[in-house]
Amino acid sequence: MKTEIRQKFIVANWKMHTTSFEAQQLSKSIVEGIAAPDHVTVVLCPPFPYLPIVGDMLRGSRVALGAQNVYPEAEGAFTGEVSPTMLLDLDCKYVIVGHSERRHKLGESDSFINRKVVCALASGLDVILCVGETLEQRQKGQTEAVLDRQLSTGLAGVRPEVLSHLSVAYEPVWAIGNDEHHATPQQAHDTHLLIREKLSQMIGATWSGELTVYYGGSVEPGNAAAFLGQEGIDGVLIGGASLKADEFLAIVNAGILETEAEMQRT
Ligand code: PEP
Repeated sequence: MKTEIRQKFIVANWKMHTTSFEAQQLSKSIVEGIAAPDHVTVVLCPPFPYLPIVGDMLRGSRVALGAQNVYPEAEGAFTGEVSPTMLLDLDCKYVIVGHSERRHKLGESDSFINRKVVCALASGLDVILCVGETLEQRQKGQTEAVLDRQLSTGLAGVRPEVLSHLSVAYEPVWAIGNDEHHATPQQAHDTHLLIREKLSQMIGATWSGELTVYYGGSVEPGNAAAFLGQEGIDGVLIGGASLKADEFLAIVNAGILETEAEMQRT
């Protein structure tokens, strides 16, 4: 269970970017540049090969290591895949599951994503489950149905005792890495309420209220505070802007300010 102060979470998804040297430099700059590390939870998710390099840079800091994907088996003949056990062995605490690029570019189904969620949680990882509708689905008024399906199938069979290790990221597909279409903070707010309502029906109001829910989709220094200031948005998942230390640190700073504002209010 969390304390009363809800610290903001800032998660960096580097996707398939950086060289080993860049990964090292970027993580070093981030660790050294966070103004108030105990007022925010920061997670860096580099590409698989750079997990050990980034993990070395994060050791002894309050910045956590995360992975962008996982295979839902402990070990075996699964060429090219990476197990939860391997991620834990490299000191990963978090794993992103069901990112829209894996759903839409790599064809991952809700049921396969569900296997990952259940297996990763059972193995002891903290899972960030990504959900979100495409532009076409939003325009056809299907947002609620899509989120309903992604959440109910994605979380099927998740045991109550592991819920404290689960978080959900709402990432409208049309707003990810998109200069043309941006979700407004109000749209993000409204959809977050919808997600919490669904979660409340599925896991009960108490857990739904406790769960960390992120927003992701072209968050940058100029709009981070507006998203982080919305009721129900506990953090942000950052793609493009997480690859530049100064931009990412500015977003982390927005998270610190929001956490501090929350501390003033309580
Ligand atoms: C993402 O990859 O999850 C993401 C939100 O990317 P971007 O910030 O670039 O839109």
